[in-house]
Amino acid sequence: MPVFIPSSLAEATQLLSTNLDAHLLTGGTDMMVEVNFNHRHPETVIALRKVPEFQQWNIDSNARVVHIGSSVPYATMEHGELAKALPALAEAARTVGSPQIRAAGSLGGNLGTCSPAGDSLPVLSALDAIVHLQSEKATRSLSFAEFMVGPKRNSRQPDEIITGVTIPLTNGWQGYAKVGVRNAMVISVASVCLAIHDGKVRVALGSVGPTIIRCSESEAWINSVGLENVDHAIAQEFGAKVRAESRPIDDHRSTAEYRRHAVGVLAARLLLRGVQK
Ligand SMILES: Cc1cc2nc3c(=O)[nH]c(=O)nc-3n(C[C@H](O)[C@H](O)[C@H](O)COP(=O)(O)OP(=O)(O)OC[C@H]3O[C@@H](n4cnc5c(N)ncnc54)[C@H](O)[C@@H]3O)c2cc1C
Repeated sequence: MPVFIPSSLAEATQLLSTNLDAHLLTGGTDMMVEVNFNHRHPETVIALRKVPEFQQWNIDSNARVVHIGSSVPYATMEHGELAKALPALAEAARTVGSPQIRAAGSLGGNLGTCSPAGDSLPVLSALDAIVHLQSEKATRSLSFAEFMVGPKRNSRQPDEIITGVTIPLTNGWQGYAKVGVRNAMVISVASVCLAIHDGKVRVALGSVGPTIIRCSESEAWINSVGLENVDHAIAQEFGAKVRAESRPIDDHRSTAEYRRHAVGVLAARLLLRGVQK
């Protein structure tokens, strides 16, 4: 099995354009599990970890955005400047797998797999992130909602590589919370990201629908109520509205009923944390 290891973006996109069936590999924490379980049989692999453009991140304080390359590992997002700029992403990153998984796993891989349980995905949705894709000939930038189109389905074309994401900074509180069957090393059974920008709330849910769900009705309701009026009763009502926007299913990890309940509880708690009550 040929494994190409390009050392530039141009080389990576050129290799992909001539090997459209090649499997892209970043940290391998999803892909190697599939190979080990015999669910995936790559004939050609393009390993992206050595592409410098994908390893970079920066905070542009003037444009008020953060750019994170697709190969930057979760470990880099957990602490330091990135965590200060994007606390919700840091919280989500800290919940991913184990230190070993966080040293290898990346946003490129989470977006590539596009599971509704991917921990970075509700954060990217709530923060209105833009996903960047590059082929040999063209560049595309998509909103998160345009990118994720179904469970484990995204709008990446076969000749495109996810190069990174651009995440606008918020000027208010942001946080992420997840429920799993235990406290560590666990795929979420329900997750919520809540962010406040210009006094307006944004909420996105993971693991309770075929894609990440942006709760536009709950957002509109709480924003009409006003953050200054949030108390425990309002937070409970907000949780009920979020619950109503979830579309969970029963599966081996949990029941739809528990997931619906959990996102309501998490959303109410995050709202209270956001307004510090
Ligand atoms: C023990 C364990 C625990 C885990 N726990 C969690 C968890 O708590 N939360 C969570 O969200 N995930 C978890 N995962 C899943 C995995 O770690 C994450 O999804 C991670 O983000 C994958 O990143 P990666 O770089 O390893 O992806 P890879 O395995 O390299 O790739 C994953 C998919 O994305 C594609 N891909 C990779 N890079 C690109 C790119 N640049 N452009 C286009 N496509 C690309 C690949 O072709 C593949 O289809 C866990 C995995 C394991 C093994």
